[in-house]
Amino acid sequence: MIKDPVLEIKGLNVDYGLGDHAVHAVRDVNLTLHRGEVLGLAGESGSGKSTLAYGLTRLLPPPGVISGGQVIYHQADGPPVDVLSLSHKELRKFRWAETSIVFQGAMNSLNPVHKISTQLIDVIKAHEPTSTPASRLARAREMLSLVGISADRLESYPHQLSGGMRQRVMIAMALALEPRVVIMDEPTTALDVVMQRQILGQLIELRERLGFSVLFITHDLSLLVEFSDRIAIMYGGRIVEEAPAADLYRDSLHPYSDGLLHSFPALRGPRRELTGIPGSPPDQRSMPTGCSFHPRCPKAFEPCADKIPVLGEPNLLGDQARSVACWLHPARETVA
Ligand code: ADP
Ligand code: MG
Repeated sequence: MIKDPVLEIKGLNVDYGLGDHAVHAVRDVNLTLHRGEVLGLAGESGSGKSTLAYGLTRLLPPPGVISGGQVIYHQADGPPVDVLSLSHKELRKFRWAETSIVFQGAMNSLNPVHKISTQLIDVIKAHEPTSTPASRLARAREMLSLVGISADRLESYPHQLSGGMRQRVMIAMALALEPRVVIMDEPTTALDVVMQRQILGQLIELRERLGFSVLFITHDLSLLVEFSDRIAIMYGGRIVEEAPAADLYRDSLHPYSDGLLHSFPALRGPRRELTGIPGSPPDQRSMPTGCSFHPRCPKAFEPCADKIPVLGEPNLLGDQARSVACWLHPARETVA
């Protein structure tokens, strides 16, 4: 079954700073989010995940600049638009109505002096200006219960809730807008593992009921293996592998993906030995030549230090759904 694309990131490049000193934090990223899909994006800290999320939503703080690419958004009714070329006015409407974003530490952005009810109702009011106060209150209660919080918590102030609850309130606010796309950038890392799984589980259930697509960003690949449909792995600003979650878990092609899989305890399935990845992520200001993972790669061989492998379909029989950027698995088109 071929699914409709909702968001297509094409050749996206994001830099911090200009000229010779620019840090190329996101390089030539191509990634498609399909309707109703949960796409996971994983990679160690510093690999460019947040920069990608901020860039594609145009929330990039200075000195960040988008130096190339397109972000094509397929509207529910209307032609596809390039988010990167929208005016600020068009962008405001787009951002609130169609895409919701929950960033890391979002729970700290609740206003401490207002009750949860006020904040949630304000969001609903902004989205549905013609709604009545009674219907807004009913909707606020409904949204809270969707994320597993009892409606009597509406009368609480943020400090009266736990971190996990505050983060779930933020998720409720994001979903109150009935977005078509939800982007979550490490929304649960500050919370304990049990809470992370609980929130993600609820999100998946809601996705099935409300029909939105999710781009879920985390450094913890084991969560994605359990909860996402497809997974993209990022390293040194590039996507190095993309595959259906089950395929990636069963048979990762890139040695970096393999290393990540062995860095976190599996939540389900057979136990894996935890070996981690030797060394540390590259300094974006002085990237290694060739494949930027080669200095840490246990399988590096002759071409790896010289040439950057292109992300493409590996030359495997009958496996069209995945792509990898690794000289061990040259892309089909680069094989003569
Ligand atoms: P991740 O979310 O995967 O941890 P980030 O997108 O935060 O990665 O960072 C990617 C790279 O961009 C890192 O090397 C980081 O040092 C650099 N970077 C992030 N924010 C800034 C900034 N405001 N100014 C300069 N460099 C930045
Ligand atoms: Mg980040």
